[in-house]
Amino acid sequence: MAPSAEPRRARVVVVGSGPAGLTAALYLARAELGPVVVGGVPSGGQLMLTTDVENYPGFPEGIQGPELIERFRKQAERFGTQFIDANVTRVDLSRRPFHLELGAAGALLADALVIATGADARWLNLPSEQTLRGHGVSACATCDGFFFKGVPVACVGGGDSAMEEATFLTKFASHVTVIHRKSELRASRIMQDRARANPKISFLFDSEVVEVLGERSVTGLKVRRLPNGPVSELAVKGLFVAIGHDPATGVFRGALELDSKGYIATHSITRTSVEGVFAAGDVYDHRYRQAVSAAGLGCMAALDAERFLSEHPAA
Ligand code: NDP
Repeated sequence: MAPSAEPRRARVVVVGSGPAGLTAALYLARAELGPVVVGGVPSGGQLMLTTDVENYPGFPEGIQGPELIERFRKQAERFGTQFIDANVTRVDLSRRPFHLELGAAGALLADALVIATGADARWLNLPSEQTLRGHGVSACATCDGFFFKGVPVACVGGGDSAMEEATFLTKFASHVTVIHRKSELRASRIMQDRARANPKISFLFDSEVVEVLGERSVTGLKVRRLPNGPVSELAVKGLFVAIGHDPATGVFRGALELDSKGYIATHSITRTSVEGVFAAGDVYDHRYRQAVSAAGLGCMAALDAERFLSEHPAA
């Protein structure tokens, strides 16, 4: 979109192009509201970094993450969704129509807004970890644990997520080593106790992963004893990084109510603190974080936005 003095106006804009945003767009398009999706750069969300997806209903043989996103996008396009591959750089949600700036892509006005910008898993930021993402390195045990039947894996982190992921992984893996950088866990007592009581889980405290080993798949880890101890090798076939998530809400800070961790605060499921602005997917749901639950929330946000628009004609 070329920059212009008069911003283009849409009845409804969806920000984000993962399962939540694209499902919202599909529903809004079929309601003939002509949604515009500001997809983000890169677009597509976390599934773009995933290989096999075996838990999205309707694909009994499984599907690759990027292909699933491509199909979502085509389906939304089929009913008239328009896409702008840009990032929102500034918003004014203080009055309708809402104003969104898209940097070099210009600006948009919207009578209603669906925010589905997601959250990013935190990573250790090791080059070897990034190379092997989707090939033995994962940030989601629910998604990928199944691929590690009967083999040893490691899980990094000391919070509730790490305890939950490690405990879940014992359903499949022969053994789970939790690697934590401190001598004490941050997780709640009940989650710690459950993990500690599990005979398939052991702990490496005061330790950090310094390299993920393997060419095409994970064969082991190099682990350093902190602060300056020796580096040893741990033979595992998988590495699960469970050190938290960061919601992509920076651009909305100050414009909307966020919770203490930076996720969008919602009321009655998808409604935000600003009337006419709805949220869907991991940008507020830090509990389920699944493609299918995000898609479901995208549907709900679209239905809520549709109702809002029918009750509040354009200003
Ligand atoms: P947390 O922020 O609670 O914990 C993150 C953990 O990762 C910490 O132990 C932290 O170490 C470690 N960590 C962070 N960065 C690095 C790094 N670069 N290298 C190594 N380790 C690192 O995140 P969670 O995702 O565990 O939990 C988020 C929230 O969700 C919490 O409020 C939690 O209670 C909640 N939750 C609840 C669940 C439940 O009740 N069923 C399940 C999952 C989450 P350090 O301790 O040194 O800071």
